[in-house]
Amino acid sequence: MLLCITDAPVLDSSTDLQIRSFVDCYQTCRVPDKDDELRTLVMNVQKHTHSKSCPLQDGSCRFSFPHVPVDRTIIARGATSGPTELLMEYHLTSNLMRKVTQLLDIYLQEDAENVLPLTDFLKQADVSHDMYEWAISVTVNRKKLF
Ligand SMILES: [Zn+2]
Repeated sequence: MLLCITDAPVLDSSTDLQIRSFVDCYQTCRVPDKDDELRTLVMNVQKHTHSKSCPLQDGSCRFSFPHVPVDRTIIARGATSGPTELLMEYHLTSNLMRKVTQLLDIYLQEDAENVLPLTDFLKQADVSHDMYEWAISVTVNRKKLF
């Protein structure tokens, strides 16, 4: 079902603040903790479970699950630098994101329901919040909201 929202901000026409405010107003990935029925519903139908069609050749999920956690909406536009900077960014961000996703995989296997605050998670991964958000914003192949 396709839904359209009147006066929704438009990527590349609206400001980042307008887009973030709109998304933050209508969307969350938080598991409800006050409504047991809603919590059960979310946990049963709003979680990705890997299927046999998920794995790519490198073993990762073709749908990019698990998605990396963020504590605010990030508008990722991909790398915008020249070739030399791009190569450095690629190595730096790849290593950083590999470290984060490996820790996330381990963490989700151990306890998927009890979520660490992002600051604690990044501390365990030994990654600064600013570097993490920067890595997320440049490692996409196309514009994407996190
Ligand atoms: Zn999957």
